[in-house]
Amino acid sequence: MGLPKSVLIREVGPRDGFQNEPELIPTAAKVALIDMLARTGVRRLEATAFVRADVIPQLADAEEVLASIDVPEDVAVSVLIPNERGLERALALREHFNEINCFMSASEAHNRHNLRASVDESLQGLERVIPRARAEGLRVEAVISVSFGCPYEGVVPAERVLAIAARLIAAGAEEIGFGDTTGMANPVAVREFFDAARDALEPEVELTAHFHNTRGQGLANVLAALESGCRSFESSFGELGGCPVPPGATGNIATEDLVSMLEEMGVATGVVLERVLAAAAAVREQLGRPLGSHTLLAGPIDWHPEG
Ligand code: ZN
Repeated sequence: MGLPKSVLIREVGPRDGFQNEPELIPTAAKVALIDMLARTGVRRLEATAFVRADVIPQLADAEEVLASIDVPEDVAVSVLIPNERGLERALALREHFNEINCFMSASEAHNRHNLRASVDESLQGLERVIPRARAEGLRVEAVISVSFGCPYEGVVPAERVLAIAARLIAAGAEEIGFGDTTGMANPVAVREFFDAARDALEPEVELTAHFHNTRGQGLANVLAALESGCRSFESSFGELGGCPVPPGATGNIATEDLVSMLEEMGVATGVVLERVLAAAAAVREQLGRPLGSHTLLAGPIDWHPEG
């Protein structure tokens, strides 16, 4: 299969990235960074999460962030919602966002560890949250964590992941994100997985790849997913984020590395690389430490044969 002319990117750094930062980032700094990201040309942006403040203190300012950001009309803002209570909190700011991202894990052990519930209990919870969100006019993405392997259970059969996806779609999810939460995917497995997903799931459902660069395979996995028909990707400016397990593991693929690769291959992203690099440089300054992103270090490729 050839490559597509264009893809969609969702910037998840302000949620997936920030939530893994041990030092509290001031709300005003988050708002300024989100406002920069919203002007990079990216069409989708995950701004924050409505999770318990005692579990993730970094995102305790969700309401304030959401009410303060200034995002152009054509950028869809999403928030992460763990359960009905989270949705309730978010709905108080309904006019400030367009989409929700709800999530669960494909394996029992990861789901218990992360959400303290069985896979079936989580499914039943999301089967209440998703229709409720749809009734409010919100678009719903459901992300399935550890879709390509679980750090506790190892191999996660694709059939199990796709059975969960089918239930989330039946509940009303319009987009399913497949998370390689701890960087266990490889390009061959990714190709097989997306081929199977496309066969198993309704064609109108959007399939999104959420890769981490834990073992340096993130962009190779993107190419494999692209070749299997995936047209939607999630990434994080500066390569922020990732799971705190194992400690020191790197984060999501960097948005600027993803944009650089895709644009060089002739796949349009709509994102202006220099603007993402400016946002990544600003967050590096804010955090005061080097980040994993390659393009942030090397800069964009500025030589082309046609001039
Ligand atoms: Zn992630």
